[in-house]
Amino acid sequence: MSQMHAPHNPFDAARFVSQRAGAIDASGIRKVFDLAAKLKDPINLSIGQPDFDVPDPVKQKAVQAIDAGHNRYTPTQGIPELLQAVRAHEKIDGRPDTGALVLAGTSAGILLAALATLNPGDEVLFLDPYFVMYKHVPKLADAVPVPVDSYPDFRLHPERLEKAVTGRTRMLVLCSPANPTGITLSPEELHAAADFAKRHGLLVISDEIYDAFCYGPHHSIAPLLPGQCLVLKGFSKTYAMTGWRLGYAVGPAAIIEQMTKLQQYTFVCAPSMAQTAALETFIPGRVDMSNDVAAYRRKRDRMLEGLQDCYEIQKPGGAFYIFPKAPRGLTGSEFVRQAIENNLLIIPGNVFSERDTHFRISYAASDRTIDRGIEALRKLAKG
Ligand code: PLP
Repeated sequence: MSQMHAPHNPFDAARFVSQRAGAIDASGIRKVFDLAAKLKDPINLSIGQPDFDVPDPVKQKAVQAIDAGHNRYTPTQGIPELLQAVRAHEKIDGRPDTGALVLAGTSAGILLAALATLNPGDEVLFLDPYFVMYKHVPKLADAVPVPVDSYPDFRLHPERLEKAVTGRTRMLVLCSPANPTGITLSPEELHAAADFAKRHGLLVISDEIYDAFCYGPHHSIAPLLPGQCLVLKGFSKTYAMTGWRLGYAVGPAAIIEQMTKLQQYTFVCAPSMAQTAALETFIPGRVDMSNDVAAYRRKRDRMLEGLQDCYEIQKPGGAFYIFPKAPRGLTGSEFVRQAIENNLLIIPGNVFSERDTHFRISYAASDRTIDRGIEALRKLAKG
């Protein structure tokens, strides 16, 4: 048989990258991971997920679910048993004005909420530093992300929100406990945010994915804004099942209905076996995460004790991150480059911010890794 050669193909696929995709820059974080791939046994304090494993009863239920044939599409909005458990947990039973939707991760909720509510040119407020999706997802809906600087204390400053609001502002996204700062919003801050949202008629998205990792009480803005707030919660962090892709949204029925419709034409449904397995987490006494959360609180304290005399740090009240200022007048990126040269993996603050002054540490790691990290960071503080 004669050798066949593919004809020269002049098709340039790169020309088909949309303006929408092209406008999203993921280079900051990619550079870190490219550098990281070259390190041998790095001190890895960059990971945004728990270092414990999925609780046994949940794992077993997932295996049983697969064996029992729960491998097909589920209803778009989620299996009825999980929806019922979510409604009971969120205390919205008997409230037809409030809907619930099971999601393929909280991320899916952020995207669907944006697609369901934002029109081109609408502006979306959120605090800077921010979780990366808050900046990029509005753009997917042709809306405009408006980060509101919260340095140096990372608190909610109502006067800064007032300054940022315009006639096009449509949405305020809050995250407490927050990624990447670990800051938890106080009842006073939530009241101020709720007043602000009411005065300007804004829809509030409350991302509460880290609600289980609160080292004081967890406060939500939702009760202050009936009918005006969409709450997003997830199983990823609480039960260490980031790869299972499961979360849920609870909020105004009119918006949940639109999100459900859009889910039907995008994600279709959340993973079926994960939905069945997640039922275990709602059975009283079946899964207890309190030891894991207590361990994370100790890890936070260990990190703070190890670093607070040589770094400028705002004490985090939750999640598993600390967001210190880079020392010696370095930018966050310069400092992270030096850290990586010293085998320490952390994330530069400009991945989560319009500023490049800080860096993110994740303490979702073993105590040994944390101690190695503290030692390396203490050396790096001096240069
Ligand atoms: N929201 C915040 C603040 C996060 O930090 C993350 C993940 O890092 C997510 C949402 C997405 O989580 P999920 O795995 O549920 O999509």
